[in-house]
Amino acid sequence: MAEKFDVIVVGAGPAGTACAYTLAKAGVNVLLMERGEYPGSKNVMGGVLYCKTMEDIIPGFYKEAPVERPIVEQRFMMLDKESAVSFSYKGLEWAKEPYNNFTVLRAKFDQWFAEKAVQQGALLLNETVALSCIVEDGKVVGIKTDRPDGDVYADVVVLADGVNSLLAKSLGFHKEFRPDEVALAVMEVLKLDRKIIEERFNLEGDNGCTIEIFGDSTKGILGTAWLYTNKDSLNIGVGTMLSGLIKHKIKPYELLDYVKNHPMIRPYLQGCEQQEYLAHLIPEGGYRSMPKIVGNGVLVVGDAAQLVNAIHREGSNMAMASGVMAAEAILAAREAGDYSEKMLESYRTNLLNSFVGQDLKKYKDATHHFEKSPHYFEQYIPMMNRVASQMFTVDGSSKWSKQKKIWSDLGSARDKWKMARDLMNAWRVMK
Ligand SMILES: Cc1cc2nc3c(=O)[nH]c(=O)nc-3n(C[C@H](O)[C@H](O)[C@H](O)COP(=O)(O)OP(=O)(O)OC[C@H]3O[C@@H](n4cnc5c(N)ncnc54)[C@H](O)[C@@H]3O)c2cc1C
Repeated sequence: MAEKFDVIVVGAGPAGTACAYTLAKAGVNVLLMERGEYPGSKNVMGGVLYCKTMEDIIPGFYKEAPVERPIVEQRFMMLDKESAVSFSYKGLEWAKEPYNNFTVLRAKFDQWFAEKAVQQGALLLNETVALSCIVEDGKVVGIKTDRPDGDVYADVVVLADGVNSLLAKSLGFHKEFRPDEVALAVMEVLKLDRKIIEERFNLEGDNGCTIEIFGDSTKGILGTAWLYTNKDSLNIGVGTMLSGLIKHKIKPYELLDYVKNHPMIRPYLQGCEQQEYLAHLIPEGGYRSMPKIVGNGVLVVGDAAQLVNAIHREGSNMAMASGVMAAEAILAAREAGDYSEKMLESYRTNLLNSFVGQDLKKYKDATHHFEKSPHYFEQYIPMMNRVASQMFTVDGSSKWSKQKKIWSDLGSARDKWKMARDLMNAWRVMK
């Protein structure tokens, strides 16, 4: 007879593990299924892990989790070909409890987190691919795996199998994603002596820094590059909408090479040694691209449900929050002995009312607006750089004459009315 669990969770990323941990802690018999050799072995992240949601799941987690550096400074660079306008926020309140976020390496972090779920009683099955959902009388009742002893059954199945969830798709919950709904990101982990990192990024002790790089880093395509500090390595990457890569006929690794060799970035990377090269999709369609996430005997969480806030670089925290909310809906369904779609619908309601749903709603038009308006990246960022260069170059002309020249240059670069309209539109989609 095939094995039966209370719950099967497919995928041991942040969403699946948060769900399995919460369920196992409540005494539920849960199977956490992972296709990788170990949790995290296939997972990719920039990688900033926000503390709040993780702290709600395991208070004081950072005392034992394999975190890299608490981020005390967030820098932003508006990049042109040979210049950059930069600004940053540095706050030492982030260097102490309760902390804001940490850099993490997913291969280590996911493994640690899944082990915590196992300690609560979850059964972790690595190197097991979920091939399809087993559906009986319109209800998901189990998972067909690639193991010889094959099928496993449960009262509820949680799909936490990441972006482009084939299982959710096979249930008809979503269609093939369009290229303007997903970003393709490539990144490298580069080894560098920790003392050099601290000097180069002006950091004391374990503190860390992140740099988000816009403009020429993506050759004007909607997206961003990033440079993050780990203990003794750096993460450098670039992610752009798939539609932009197709339109501009650029290969993602060419873009990463371009960023690494950019004169404003290159000095940060001197003496680095490549450790890892990674590539992954990011669901960036937001609120309007969310698939169906509740069915009879089945819930969809994390990237599989498109829960990423691309504007604020938040994904792992939304994934974990959704995993916990799915677990809570399952616990209520268990109490009622009813795993129907109607009963599990509380997951969707709670998710949409939480910061996850609210933030996705807030930026529901942002990605598509900026995607349709490439001049924000192609024209305005170079313009900012020209203004800064003209204003700060001391060349004997008066500041009034500089202002006049800047104003007339702005007019010739893009009609001032169009600029005012762009400003209004940007405010409208971000407010
Ligand atoms: C380059 C990049 C940078 C990012 N940077 C950040 C950042 O700085 N901060 C942030 O918060 N978020 C960031 N994100 C987003 C974040 O990584 C995701 O939102 C988060 O990992 C989603 O978690 P998840 O558990 O839903 O999916 P995943 O982490 O993708 O986990 C899915 C798991 O399911 C497994 N799986 C898939 N299919 C099957 C199957 N059929 N059978 C068994 N197992 C399966 C996979 O192996 C994997 O372990 C970034 C993403 C990328 C790609």
